[in-house]
Amino acid sequence: MAQIHELSVNLSNQIAAGEVIERPASVVKELVENAIDAGSSRIRIDFIDAGLKQIVVQDNGSGIPSNQIDLAFTRHATSKIKSEHDLFNVSTLGFRGEALASIAAVSHVEILTNSSGAIGTRAEFSAGVKKMQEDAAARQGTQITVKDLFYNTPARLKYLRSPRTEIMKTVDIVNRLALGYPEIAFTLMNEGRILLRTAGNNNLRQTVSSVYGRNIAERMLPFKGSDNDFEVSGLISKPELTRSTRNFISILLNGRYIRNFKLASAVMAGYGNNLTDKHYPIAVIKIKTDPLLVDVNVHPTKREVRLSKETELSRLITSAISSVLLKNDVKSDALSNL
Ligand code: ADP
Ligand code: MG
Repeated sequence: MAQIHELSVNLSNQIAAGEVIERPASVVKELVENAIDAGSSRIRIDFIDAGLKQIVVQDNGSGIPSNQIDLAFTRHATSKIKSEHDLFNVSTLGFRGEALASIAAVSHVEILTNSSGAIGTRAEFSAGVKKMQEDAAARQGTQITVKDLFYNTPARLKYLRSPRTEIMKTVDIVNRLALGYPEIAFTLMNEGRILLRTAGNNNLRQTVSSVYGRNIAERMLPFKGSDNDFEVSGLISKPELTRSTRNFISILLNGRYIRNFKLASAVMAGYGNNLTDKHYPIAVIKIKTDPLLVDVNVHPTKREVRLSKETELSRLITSAISSVLLKNDVKSDALSNL
């Protein structure tokens, strides 16, 4: 048998990258989540060639001090949690300290950042190794440029789909992030073409309008509900406005877009028999709860979470939606009687 040895830092980062960085959209998700955690009010994403050639994510958040750049790119190094207790009380989108190390392991990365208002920092990494760091003029915030994603992992590169499909996947992720954070102005561009732009004025209906179009946004109904543990609110389409997939139901738990079959079904249950077979509503469901009730440490991408009191939450969603639909029906009946 061969000798057992520890893997090099680089190799273990590449293995981690295999879990979290699947395609350009995953790079965007991680970088934008970092920008959100950094308290940004403006986030801009620019692609060249659907992100395959280059991805730039620019924010106006806290920035990273020059003496912390190395740590930011070190796996399992994070500013977001410290103790075991924090792990079960996560209020940020990130906490695993893996994204930057993973991205840098499979691309060329340049970071330009300023945390102080004084001089900023520029640094470059290639395949996980730091190539240089210097003082540089930079605006407050952080700009990360990712070039030639997967250039050193050909198998991954081969697995990517057409530029069009890759763009669609990115747009989908940025759409959900924008819906989760209507107070942040998002811009997503591919080679100068605007794919998404939100105003960042904390108006959910206007954000829905930017994402799905004005026609849809104007026809959605606000809803609200709460119990001891959860506050739910958002916008839902009237039963006559549907789509042929569940993909237009966005569930945002404490700002995090999650996939949860049970909660999506609870949304649909709120429509009762007003939805015909294979018709699904458009819905933005915001849930606020104590982070202690949510275990986000289930999967590296954090898309799936474990929720205490899921059944209670499902019931709350269903009843909040059905009561607003009921009220709306009553209203439209009343109007037609005038
Ligand atoms: P995590 O987000 O899980 O902490 P990352 O690898 O994504 O791990 O980032 C590592 C650290 O680098 C973060 O904890 C944060 O302190 C810092 N960082 C990353 N991106 C930004 C950013 N855009 N603005 C400010 N700090 C950042
Ligand atoms: Mg992160």
